[in-house]
Amino acid sequence: MSHDKKIMVILSSPSGAGKTTITKKIQQKYPSFKISVSHTTRPPRTNEIDGVDYHFISKMKFKSLINENKFYEYAKIFDNYYGTLKANVDGAILKNDILFDIDWQGTKQLSQFKNLKLIKIYLTTENKGELEKRLISRNQNTIDEVKKRLSSYDEDIKHWNDYDYVLINKNLEVCFKQIEKIISNYKTFSTSQIIQ
Ligand code: 5GP
Repeated sequence: MSHDKKIMVILSSPSGAGKTTITKKIQQKYPSFKISVSHTTRPPRTNEIDGVDYHFISKMKFKSLINENKFYEYAKIFDNYYGTLKANVDGAILKNDILFDIDWQGTKQLSQFKNLKLIKIYLTTENKGELEKRLISRNQNTIDEVKKRLSSYDEDIKHWNDYDYVLINKNLEVCFKQIEKIISNYKTFSTSQIIQ
């Protein structure tokens, strides 16, 4: 893989579709990728580390960053704010490829910055029932949270058209191979040569 052309990959998905595992696999295989660490007002989960999983900040601090126009994008999701700081991206892209784990709202906003060369991938399960099964079996969310996350599945579907690729994660290895292919195509050809 050539390292001279830096790319930005957005990986959106409903939680439970396998995004975290795929993200880790991309980073392990391609050390050139840096994961964009978002700011959020959501409280950390027990296994999460400030500055690694997210920058955890107060709603007041988040709002002041909005007013200072510091975000490339931000969104309110499940009662909390999430956003990508311009300074973090602008610094990282000089040396690294960047992987964004953001939702469709953020994807729409980032797409407006024509200077950013984005590959937009939506990762999902075969259907809503499969997602429900995964959310319940991983046992990380309360029944109410599972319901909320499932209801956002219906909203998310409406925005699949905003993505360059929609991948069904039926088999993790197959799905990862598809992502590798997409990445290596962009690394090999200039984006203007790619027919979408
Ligand atoms: P979670 O609370 O499960 O970590 O994330 C909830 C949702 O927020 C996920 O769909 C994730 O992709 C999205 N998200 C995380 N960071 C950002 C961000 O910086 N901007 C936007 N727009 N969405 C984000």
